[in-house]
Amino acid sequence: MESPAPTTRASSPPPAAGWSLPGIGLLKGMAVTAVNMIQSYYRKDRMTTVQYPEERAPISPNFRNFPFLVYDGDNMAGLRCTACSICEKECPPQCIYIVLDRDENGKSLKRPKVFDIDVSVCMNCGICAEVCPFDSIYMDGQYELATGDRFGGLLFNKETLARSTDYHAQLRPLEAAEVAARRKAEEEKKLAAQAAKVAKAKLEKEQKELKAKEEQEKGTGA
Ligand code: SF4
Ligand code: SF4
Repeated sequence: MESPAPTTRASSPPPAAGWSLPGIGLLKGMAVTAVNMIQSYYRKDRMTTVQYPEERAPISPNFRNFPFLVYDGDNMAGLRCTACSICEKECPPQCIYIVLDRDENGKSLKRPKVFDIDVSVCMNCGICAEVCPFDSIYMDGQYELATGDRFGGLLFNKETLARSTDYHAQLRPLEAAEVAARRKAEEEKKLAAQAAKVAKAKLEKEQKELKAKEEQEKGTGA
């Protein structure tokens, strides 16, 4: 009986097709670095650093740090925030503080009397901007916020947080355009519903008046 062929340990695989001398990859890397360094003297796109603060590198559209509040129109009277407090409840480190503004009878004015964010605690997560149902709060790209005032200097109130819709459009054009288009569509829908309601009420009134007139004529004829 023929005995099975003895098993042997797998031998090392043959060198791959791209096999090369040790150190070649390092030399290639250094060549790329050298080309970048030389070209950086005459090609702007090869520069990986800028002369800050005289120059500032453009920030990525996705860069974010602290939130800001948006207002429509020219001033803070157009703040979209309704002081619903959803962002305050959802903020993980609880660094948002909101007080609802009320009239003398205690009725809600649907706007914040106080809206503070302690940016020394804010962790830049963006959850406030995600949960806001009124398109009122977005993440800013402003990063030069250093201050020697550890407390007051880093506690931003609604005046400090307020930004115009133009600012939003410049900072994040795609996001701002999408929000503006959606808000416009919602406003048009709301106006159309109001117009339909007014037309329906008018029709019902006319029918009622007509019916009353007919009944009156019937009564007179009898
Ligand atoms: S970005 Fe995050 S941590 Fe900062 S205020 Fe918004 S929810 Fe709070
Ligand atoms: S920013 Fe938005 S979620 Fe926060 S209180 Fe104002 S409306 Fe509500």
